[in-house]
Amino acid sequence: MHPKSSLMDETRFFNKAVETLGRDELDALIDERVSYTISYAAEHSPFYRDWFRTHHIDPGEVRSHEDLLSLPIISGKTVRENQPPGTPEFRFLSASMGDIFTIHETSGTSGVPKSFFLTYEEWLRYAEKYARIFVSQGFKKGDRVVVCTTYGMNVGANTMTLAAHRIGFTIIPTGNCNFPVRTLTNYHPTAIIGSVFKFIHLARRLAGEGISIRDLGLERLVVGGESFAQEAREYVGELWDCGVYNTYGSTEGTMCGECHQLTGLHIPEDLVHIDIYDPAMAEFVKEGECGRAVLTTLLPVGAKCGTLLINYDTEDTTSVISREPCPCGRTHMRITNPQREAETVWVNGAPFNRVDIERGVFQHENMQYLTGEYEAFLYAGQDEQETIMRVGLECEDPDLGDTRHIGDRFLDSFLKGRPALTAAHADGSFRILFRFTKPGGLELHTLKGRPKRLVDRR
Ligand SMILES: [Zn+2]
Repeated sequence: MHPKSSLMDETRFFNKAVETLGRDELDALIDERVSYTISYAAEHSPFYRDWFRTHHIDPGEVRSHEDLLSLPIISGKTVRENQPPGTPEFRFLSASMGDIFTIHETSGTSGVPKSFFLTYEEWLRYAEKYARIFVSQGFKKGDRVVVCTTYGMNVGANTMTLAAHRIGFTIIPTGNCNFPVRTLTNYHPTAIIGSVFKFIHLARRLAGEGISIRDLGLERLVVGGESFAQEAREYVGELWDCGVYNTYGSTEGTMCGECHQLTGLHIPEDLVHIDIYDPAMAEFVKEGECGRAVLTTLLPVGAKCGTLLINYDTEDTTSVISREPCPCGRTHMRITNPQREAETVWVNGAPFNRVDIERGVFQHENMQYLTGEYEAFLYAGQDEQETIMRVGLECEDPDLGDTRHIGDRFLDSFLKGRPALTAAHADGSFRILFRFTKPGGLELHTLKGRPKRLVDRR
């Protein structure tokens, strides 16, 4: 091999030995860690000690990832019920407080925030997960990266920053996308980490201030924090004229990411185990089928852990794309972009997600007229069988847009491959109405907090 290509090959990985482990060796490593994690839980986690006893589980019998499939599932509700105010103690805390480096909380959008306790070792493991993702996306020493992700009680931005230290790139920790334009023109970042809508807003603001995005020299954007339609990603890529990579992370420790091949999100299988579960069937799905991602923390033998999770329902839906090696050289499995179950609604017995609405909005030709901002509300109709969905779309100028064609393109995309919804739409039991507004005219702009773009008001 040419020396230069061999050098480049090495730099494509953060931890090449682990990231390219053969399937058998990787499975053996996973099983060793499942075994250790279970015994650690039995010894150190008050919640899991009782859980094993209640469910007649002998921790010594759980020795492989296959064994996890026979254990019960826990949820965010379980975590919330086992911490104040539900119980006086944090029953998921699995290390002594003297070993805890930081304390975190989830955003609490669905009630009491869940508390997470991290040892410094866990910071290093979380940072390693991000570092592997960033390197797989082409980040290297010398990059300068604006982090628009919020710093605070969540883990993401903080551990991304430690990942930067381990790779050797520079962080510009703005924590949001409302930073002054000089952040870009003075420091010449090579990448920004944010979300689809943060990137759209920022592009619009730059255009308003007469800044040409193409002159900024950005090499890539990293999207995280929420699911998005492929069409929305393409639109952001066109606005910014650079690659857009997806990263899925949570305080619970998922942290999966797309490599430069864009063939799905790699799961760091040696550090977190994911199975796919169907809550309606109360069983795990067949390979390739869609279901809820169920997570188990994997601890290296001898490691300490502040909060560990076994068979934890993330309430995000995904499916396995492949466990075969990726063209990038990584062997770790790949999944589809997870969607939030909380953003799925059912009409006439058929489900759809906010991302399906987003796909309809971001149809390529629509984006000559639309800003990308949208919202959809579901209402009960006159009779019991009828559902009305009102889709609000923001236009640069509502008088200029060809609104009928925008609606048609939305419907073509939204109903495609959905026979139940198509039939309901055709017979009038599912009516879809459009409202076109000026920028700022959507209801979501008047509501506080994280925008909810699909709201069921039936
Ligand atoms: Zn890959």
